[in-house]
Amino acid sequence: MKTIVTGGAGFLGSHLCDLLLARDHEVICVDNLITGNERNISHIGSDRFKFIKHDISKPLYIKGKVDFIYHLASPASPIDYQEFPIQTLKVGALGTHNMLGLAKEKNARFFLASTSEIYGDPLVNPQPEEYWGNVNPIGPRGVYDEAKRFAEAITMAYNRYHRVDTRIIRIFNTYGPRMCPNDGRVVPNFIGQALRGEDITVYGDGSQTRSFCYVSDEVEGIYRLMMSDYTLPMNIGNPEEHTILEFAKIIVRITGTRSKIAFQNLPVDDPKQRRPDITKARNILGWEPKVSLEHGLKETIKYFKCMVE
Ligand code: NAD
Ligand code: UDP
Repeated sequence: MKTIVTGGAGFLGSHLCDLLLARDHEVICVDNLITGNERNISHIGSDRFKFIKHDISKPLYIKGKVDFIYHLASPASPIDYQEFPIQTLKVGALGTHNMLGLAKEKNARFFLASTSEIYGDPLVNPQPEEYWGNVNPIGPRGVYDEAKRFAEAITMAYNRYHRVDTRIIRIFNTYGPRMCPNDGRVVPNFIGQALRGEDITVYGDGSQTRSFCYVSDEVEGIYRLMMSDYTLPMNIGNPEEHTILEFAKIIVRITGTRSKIAFQNLPVDDPKQRRPDITKARNILGWEPKVSLEHGLKETIKYFKCMVE
């Protein structure tokens, strides 16, 4: 089974490469390293693994057959996509178009990594797949949200018009080892601050909520969805919802830090609540998260401790 993973040198993509190699796939990882790092794949010694440094917003030509394409390439943290707004729009639009074209040419199954951000600042909680969302197209997060919404639309168009076999996942906040320590996301920020004894920066009053899924659960959900025959978008995430202030206190407790909590301004358009409705994942894939927040955070803290040493 020859499988392409775009964004395979990123946080999630590198864990997906590990899982696919363990399940006997031949893996071609395609990444331009704009937010990823070769360090994330340097442990892989398999001769079934190949890395190609390439910007998939430009066409990609691969010789021979391809069976599966997992398309994960895109800046993913609010700091990253605001630093690279045009690249984010291009990879969501042109990159997705290129990878769908490759899937059509090779008769490969195509998988789009979409996001809970397509729900924007949701007015419905938890969010079921049927909810259309509440997105500000021209706000600072619009470059990411609208790129992913376009990516979903073109994926469904290739599915319906060209009969390409497609899957769409909506990933909710996922964390774990290999997250980039300075991408500004809440998990690396809080853990890094706690380990350095700095103030923990809670934005706003910390009453906004998020639901955190450990990476091994997320990649298992990704794989199961790809292997299913379900072609409409599916939420994969952990439905256990926490306020960000609660989350900061959990990090303080687990790390045993003396850091204090410091409140800072809430970023523009920061979603007030986010929690997946995973009824479909449970019923169709028999999937639900297994790793507790406590255990997942301990593993992640271990990784960040090694990084600072
Ligand atoms: P990441 O930044 O660690 O990984 C993204 C990878 O894509 C990086 O290695 C980057 O270099 C690569 N990339 C970006 N543009 C590219 C291009 N034009 N050509 C080739 N490679 C390119 O982020 P992540 O958290 O691993 O996210 C992976 C995917 O999952 C993204 O599509 C993201 O939108 C989606 N997602 C992640 C989360 C999460 O919580 N981690 C939540 C929702 C959706
Ligand atoms: N956040 C925070 N302090 C930080 C980083 C993030 O309070 O140092 C908040 C952020 O405002 C948001 C939540 O944590 O409400 C999750 O932010 P993240 O950037 O991880 O991802 P998002 O879910 O917003 O895409």
